[in-house]
Amino acid sequence: MIIVIKQNHEQKQLDNLIKWVKQQGVEVDLSVGSHSTILGLVGDTSKVDIDLVRSLDIVENVKRIQEPFKCANRKFHPDDTIVDIKGHKFGGNNFQIIAGPCSIESEKQIIEVAKAVKKAGATVLRGGAYKPRTSPYAFQGLKESGLKLLLKAKEETGMPIVTEIMSVSHIDQFKDVDIIQIGARNMQNFELLKEVGKTNKPVLLKRGLANTIEEWLMSAEYIMSEGSKDIILCERGIRTFEPYTRNTLDLSAIPLLKELTHLPVVVDPSHASGLSRLVKPLSLASVGAGAHGLMIEVHNDPAHALCDGAQSIRPEQFAEIVEQIDVMLPLVDKQRDL
Ligand code: PEP
Ligand code: MN
Repeated sequence: MIIVIKQNHEQKQLDNLIKWVKQQGVEVDLSVGSHSTILGLVGDTSKVDIDLVRSLDIVENVKRIQEPFKCANRKFHPDDTIVDIKGHKFGGNNFQIIAGPCSIESEKQIIEVAKAVKKAGATVLRGGAYKPRTSPYAFQGLKESGLKLLLKAKEETGMPIVTEIMSVSHIDQFKDVDIIQIGARNMQNFELLKEVGKTNKPVLLKRGLANTIEEWLMSAEYIMSEGSKDIILCERGIRTFEPYTRNTLDLSAIPLLKELTHLPVVVDPSHASGLSRLVKPLSLASVGAGAHGLMIEVHNDPAHALCDGAQSIRPEQFAEIVEQIDVMLPLVDKQRDL
């Protein structure tokens, strides 16, 4: 349920209303936008007398939300959420580029790649320490020592970092990580979502391998209902019948999500196609479709990468893509941090 508050309300009246709603056992999400003030009610609203609320002086309108996702719903929060990562803003008219290797392999590798992508325009460094691999015999990541190397790269370059969590038991290791990534395979690991939500840290939530947009937003809801409000959604391709590409990039998800939710949306063109030569066209298509950013896998030696070499691009190819993105950004009314 949302309660739209009249523009000329008195603060005291609003405070009283919020207090009264909370007494009904419902959580309140207050959204003060440039054009409207909205109270989003989360939880079991069946006991809230809608006619009574409608009759109040300060209330302009009351509506029930049909969609099962509430906190993530655009109706709850008409303005875009801006997720601020150490001054780098995701959402609104901002455009950010996250880049780095699929997995952290050595100190030299992560620091070399970090410096190169930063120079080319990336604002956040990615790198997996815990890797979700299809085969138990494949490289599983450097785990805790990989996280330490990523933190070292953060220190050397000043770049905030994003890395994937796979288990609730690892949460303590992520305290200095700027954005916790929930990977496609864990999008519906509800216990993990809840625990990560309790950390209040920004989260990069990837779309599941074969999940609908509504299921994806329900996963965001799991995180948000525990406390973390700073969620960045990441479209990374979904499984279809097409074997030429690793996945199929769902470009229509981008403009659709912008209608349904206030959360920022970025695209991962690397996992979406699995092919390094498609990273550039898919990046540009994502900019055109209105994405708030990109996450691109970059490796200094893709041929010898321990994970996802076929979809990784070299730093100089990454720099070329950023140059082309810069040509497009004014057309979609977005700005990249310089
Ligand atoms: C990744 O980003 O490293 C990753 C494993 O991606 P996904 O969860 O989208 O497969
Ligand atoms: Mn990868």
